Amino acid sequence: MTEADPQLTGETAELLQVMIRNACINDGTPASGGEVRNAGTVDDALDGLHLDHYEPISGRRSVLATVEGSDPDAPTILLLGHTDVVPVSPDDWREDPFGGELIDGEVWGRGAVDMLNLTSSMAVAVRHLATRDHPPRATVKFLAVADEEAGGTWGAGWIAENAWDDVACDYVLTERGGVPFDGADGRKLVMASAEKGIGWRKLVVHGTPGHGSMPYGADNALITAAEIVRRLAAYQPRAQINEHFRAWAATLPVDDATRAALLDPDTIQAALAGMDPHLSQYCHAVTHTTFSPNVAHGGTKTNTIPDRIELDVDIRTLPGVTDADVEVMLTEALGDLADRVSIEDPVTTRAATTSPSDTPMFDLLRHRAAAVHPGAEVIPWMIVGGTDAAFFRERGIPSYGAGMFSPKASLQEFASRFHGHNERIDLDSLGLSTQLWIDLADGISP
Ligand SMILES: [Zn+2]
Repeated sequence: MTEADPQLTGETAELLQVMIRNACINDGTPASGGEVRNAGTVDDALDGLHLDHYEPISGRRSVLATVEGSDPDAPTILLLGHTDVVPVSPDDWREDPFGGELIDGEVWGRGAVDMLNLTSSMAVAVRHLATRDHPPRATVKFLAVADEEAGGTWGAGWIAENAWDDVACDYVLTERGGVPFDGADGRKLVMASAEKGIGWRKLVVHGTPGHGSMPYGADNALITAAEIVRRLAAYQPRAQINEHFRAWAATLPVDDATRAALLDPDTIQAALAGMDPHLSQYCHAVTHTTFSPNVAHGGTKTNTIPDRIELDVDIRTLPGVTDADVEVMLTEALGDLADRVSIEDPVTTRAATTSPSDTPMFDLLRHRAAAVHPGAEVIPWMIVGGTDAAFFRERGIPSYGAGMFSPKASLQEFASRFHGHNERIDLDSLGLSTQLWIDLADGISP
């Protein structure tokens, strides 16, 4: 593995520590986040550069920095980093989640992997490119955004909608890539080139009110809702064996018969059932449009049979699946209970997005990965959650989840730190990611 520049590594670590301590906790409410604090930290770090600011509502501030490149033919690169973090359960942490402590070569705290590590590395890379004795080859924009953790309404989504010319670019690079792992056929790195869509629905289950003392034969909406939840949990639309899953399946530590079964829509369910749940969860999500009933509201009083229960269902769609397809799937899942339910208009909906993995930028990512981790092959993978990349992909900009990490944490361990307890990042990974952005801006292809 290539060593990172210790000076830049130290700068990124220090900036990360400050950003963790700023505790820009986004709980989904408009008044939370307070990203104005991390925006101020970015302003201080990039003092002297050209900066623009966006603050659609008070406290939710984003910052854009631009460094002009030397080559007018080079693509413009947008480095996209969010500055908010999700809440913590502090009692479950071994260290203070907002202490930003450096302990045994790791920076601890909420955001250390999602994604203040990358946001701070982008800021340091941009400062380096702007202040060294020669400009980068490509023009580089760095957008430090609020509100990614609640869907980007007050951050990337708002900016894409209201200030598109400012952030227009040829490529976007953001989170969820660059973690090395040893697959069944050698060292690999994932770089994200696609993500699933979101199709959240609210289902209202109807019944007839009555007295709780006479439940026999009652039309109880809660009992109907319980059966609906069970049907949604059991529902499996037909698997889609896409190119992302084919590439992923080749790396899995399973026997050949299991691998073959996973690649066949008729046998994938049985194969998943026999696998380690750590492996099968992602394999299932990346091949299916999924339905997870996650919130139930309803009932008013212990002695009253409820006539209305609301169910919030987290639906994640595969590429090519439309809102109309989701309606069909819901009808199929509910079966003869479909007419007991009204489905409200989608709460949040956006289609899955995919960027080609044969672009010059993706090639560059492949080259850098193989240079840092000798021989490593890059797997273009599909994120099953959502990121701000979607706002750019849906406007036709190839967008990749990138980064460059050391092998210190396994891919599984690393994934568990996203929104998990004891989130932390090693210094080597901070340095390698900082160097990656610099190398991409210079168009370095060994
Ligand atoms: Zn994130």
